[in-house]
Amino acid sequence: MKDIVSYLRPYRGKVVLAIAMVAVSTLCNLLLPTIMSSIVNTGVYGADFPYIVRCCAAMLLVALVGLGAVLLGAKTSSQVVADFCADLRRDIFQKVHTLTFEEFGAMGTAALVTRSTHDIETVSWVASMLSGTVATIPVLFLGGVLLALRKDTVLSLLLLCFIPALFVVVVLIGRRIDPLWKKSDDYTDRQNDIMRERLWGIRVIRAFNKEPHEQERLADATRVMAENIIRANVHMGAVAPLALFIFNAAAVVIVWVGSARMEMLGAPSAGDIFAIVQYIALVMNGVLMASFAIVMFPHAKVAAGRIAQVTNAKGSADQAPEEEAVFRGDIDLEHVTFRYDDADEPAVSDVTIHIRAGQKVSVIGGTGSGKSTLVQLLLAFRAPTQGTIRFDGREDWSARTIRRNISAVLQKTAIYSGTIRDNLLMGDPGAGEERLREAARIAQISTFIEGLDQGYDHELIQAGKNLSGGQKQRLNIARAVLKNAPIYLFDDSFSALDFLTEARLREELNTGMAGRTRIIITQRVTSAMDSDCIFVMDQGRLVGQGKHRELLESCPIYREIYASQTGGEQV
Ligand code: ADP
Ligand code: MG
Repeated sequence: MKDIVSYLRPYRGKVVLAIAMVAVSTLCNLLLPTIMSSIVNTGVYGADFPYIVRCCAAMLLVALVGLGAVLLGAKTSSQVVADFCADLRRDIFQKVHTLTFEEFGAMGTAALVTRSTHDIETVSWVASMLSGTVATIPVLFLGGVLLALRKDTVLSLLLLCFIPALFVVVVLIGRRIDPLWKKSDDYTDRQNDIMRERLWGIRVIRAFNKEPHEQERLADATRVMAENIIRANVHMGAVAPLALFIFNAAAVVIVWVGSARMEMLGAPSAGDIFAIVQYIALVMNGVLMASFAIVMFPHAKVAAGRIAQVTNAKGSADQAPEEEAVFRGDIDLEHVTFRYDDADEPAVSDVTIHIRAGQKVSVIGGTGSGKSTLVQLLLAFRAPTQGTIRFDGREDWSARTIRRNISAVLQKTAIYSGTIRDNLLMGDPGAGEERLREAARIAQISTFIEGLDQGYDHELIQAGKNLSGGQKQRLNIARAVLKNAPIYLFDDSFSALDFLTEARLREELNTGMAGRTRIIITQRVTSAMDSDCIFVMDQGRLVGQGKHRELLESCPIYREIYASQTGGEQV
């Protein structure tokens, strides 16, 4: 909570102004019954018409001042709340970029989305409510009670008894609501999670006719969420009638006691009783507003806690500055082992690989053999559990420097909404038309792009849903080709291409990228065959290395893969 409140610091001045304005308007509200009671006491009893007119003018003036203060206060506080939320959103967004993959996995995408939408809205809602009440309460309370005391001590003491009653009722209800909100927030996360998964896999769900099943899964989460929200709201709904009841009871008691005292002692006057009843209304109203804020406060606390989870995440050490260095392209892995946090077995065990600058090497292995994990280690997405990875003989490069020097096509392709040009230029924002076309040509996608009505300005939709798997893969390759780097990394990047396209692409890459270090990760022998060196992975271990012919002789697993793909004939 403290962390979130600290976001208000830059707006201190405005916060003070808003509070001051609320205080002024509250004071004006308090003055009105006082003037009203003088009208009754002096003007009506004394039949002094000019006095009544003067008092009415004064009331009008006070009301106008109050109105001005309310408007200015509301404007300032809504500005502060909007800026405050914008700052929070910005920080969450930036933080998400620095999260390690472990933190990412632990929080989950759905939760991160809820943090930056629903949770921030809750905080802002409560913040604006608090900003309206924080100054009202003490002013109303003190002012109301002081003014009442001036009129009649006994009656004001009665008033003082009713206020705590209202307070206790509200706080008791608030306590019961707190856990309900927390639970409903957790289920909002869950609901988002299922919804996301569902939308993501909608085709598979339909193909397997699993809509009813999915409906049920979502309905379950929604039901629990709804139950909690409904219960919370029912509790909250009880607050207003209870408050009204307490207020009216107070008014009845005060009028009754007041008239009894008036008959016996001649004081208070009718005007005084009238004023005190109005004070009760004001004070009770203030207490009610405050109690709503108090009731909502736990909700905001939950939301703030969830936001803080993100903003306080450690993030990765990736933030070390990028160095200008351009790698030669030597890569050395020494006894590299990596185990995922939640896994029992390492995904990569004791792998030692030496790659010289300018070499074209392949890593081959079945699914789950640790190839993509190796890519993540090379790109410094994750750090080896044991062992070292050196580029050009040095192991302490910052992650950003390493990534600047590697142009990678990841197994999971990524297309962003925008034009084809936008997507390709991510590889090199400064590239001209000429190079753009060249990259597309090498990636075997230029014919497709040029056949489109808009060509390179063709709009892609998010995640490239208007593209086939092979088109997405080739766009990702073109993007990587456009990035001028000493090291190129292709993780299973040809898997969705037919053999002919792949052969052409390989040929283009061989000429276009000659002299650069190239690492081709694949399951196909044909993609690996012509490499300077092939590394064979099996269950996270390196089980063979050498040229195609050597491996056929020496490595049974390689021979097996080869046989399974070619039917055993020697090429
Ligand atoms: P490949 O790319 O060769 O198919 P991966 O490197 O993707 O293999 O996976 C190697 C092993 O690591 C697999 O057993 C897989 O289940 C496991 N693995 C991959 N990603 C994760 C992850 N994020 N958390 C836990 N285990 C993972
Ligand atoms: Mg893989």
